[in-house]
Amino acid sequence: MPKRRRKPKNTATSDVGGEDSVVLRETIPLQLRYYGDPVLRKRAEPVSEITDAERQFADQMLMTLAATGNGIGLAATQVGVLKRLIVVNIGEEDDEAYEPLVLFNPEILSSDGEIVAEEGCLSIPDVTADVKRPENIVVEGLDAHNEFVHIEADGLLARVLQHEIDHLNGILFIDRISGLKRRLLSDELQRLQRAERPS
Ligand SMILES: [Zn+2]
Repeated sequence: MPKRRRKPKNTATSDVGGEDSVVLRETIPLQLRYYGDPVLRKRAEPVSEITDAERQFADQMLMTLAATGNGIGLAATQVGVLKRLIVVNIGEEDDEAYEPLVLFNPEILSSDGEIVAEEGCLSIPDVTADVKRPENIVVEGLDAHNEFVHIEADGLLARVLQHEIDHLNGILFIDRISGLKRRLLSDELQRLQRAERPS
């Protein structure tokens, strides 16, 4: 997604401790998965119960997103976890400040309009393309406290939500560009697919 430089507020829960927490701290930021990794093509499963472990994972996702320096959204799929969870932190848009957003089991209920904007993806480094998507969407899901969330989004928020929900269905933004444009990117994509990545 477009680059923004703003750290999210630290929303780490302090009520999760125990012996696991030391191990978890050592694993932050979580390892990002990159284009060519088969996990990015899998469909993520709904989260049936939002437990402390799920909340802690959501916090790790937010910290991982912050650690990228320019990311504004992250889906669990991108760290190799096939759960329907996304985190979004777009910072400010049009003088409006947005809180970091944690959304379990997000669903797009409706959409309308059409708009083209440039996208990128933390899992597909250094590749950007114009992508046409609905302009306005209505999304529902659950937050980290198991509360129902209803979002009517436009602009950057609508775009990042659609991009991240696509990840949960194994869809990448390059799937949504025309064949011609994708062919122009094919050398770059093949290079990424062959790239050695830390495991
Ligand atoms: Zn992405």
